[in-house]
Amino acid sequence: MTQPICVTPGTTVSLTDHDPGYTGDYEDKAAAKADVKHNVKKLQELQQVLWAEGKHALLIVLQAMDAGGKDGTIKHVMHGVNPQGCRVTSFKVPSALELAHDYLWRIHQATPQRGQIGIFNRSHYEDVLVVRVHELVPAGIWQQRYEQINHFEELLAGEGTTIVKFFLHISKKEQKKRFQERLQDPKKNWKFSIKDVQERDHWDAYMQAYEDALSKCSTAWAPWHIVPADHKWYRNLVVSQVLVETLEGLDLHYPPPLPDAGQITIA
Ligand code: AMP
Ligand code: MG
Repeated sequence: MTQPICVTPGTTVSLTDHDPGYTGDYEDKAAAKADVKHNVKKLQELQQVLWAEGKHALLIVLQAMDAGGKDGTIKHVMHGVNPQGCRVTSFKVPSALELAHDYLWRIHQATPQRGQIGIFNRSHYEDVLVVRVHELVPAGIWQQRYEQINHFEELLAGEGTTIVKFFLHISKKEQKKRFQERLQDPKKNWKFSIKDVQERDHWDAYMQAYEDALSKCSTAWAPWHIVPADHKWYRNLVVSQVLVETLEGLDLHYPPPLPDAGQITIA
């Protein structure tokens, strides 16, 4: 991969430097198939040890523009993992109760426990994205949030949660294509929302908000990854690869066998 994927902490991201159609050394879907399959299998094995050991938690944060592929990534990359050790939380427009608390209240409740993989389909980053673009709170409030988010994620990391954040980067052209598919394909109609089309008008403001979030909140303890996502197969390859590398880096082990296992007789 020659296009940088991981955002080096302290650098300023310009999304125009990142090609959403990038596919590295891979020519097409067929060329990546074996590697994706290998990664998905490896993920299943690693999750089993994560769960058995019960020492670390993994938090995966997925952010993207509408039709950016968050749902597809969860489906294709995580499809073999044991549902008992995995929890997906989709963050929607906050409820009245959620709005009556600070923005991290609902987030903290959904973080994974030790042994578990938590997947955030949207996240606390919406509070510096949609909230900023639509001025849902005054600028003075959302501007403080980058630092608060870094501290919050540092707390989680310090207490045993490994955090990996993915921005699935699609082009405006690819979004149009996917919206059109949603309109035309009866099996995809349910995914179409006129609100998404309205959000598209704010594309540039969103890109600016994403650039700030990626620049200010990629840290050693919770790095951001910019995933070229116009090609779904390449997106799946990158995400699965990063997750395998992250879990391998945790040096996971099954708990030691019972010392007297040999002496136990089962009647
Ligand atoms: P979807 O992911 O298509 O189900 O849509 C969820 C919607 O909830 C998106 O339009 C998000 O922008 C919106 N949303 C998520 N979190 C927040 C938030 N904290 N404040 C306002 N809107 C949000
Ligand atoms: Mg949507």
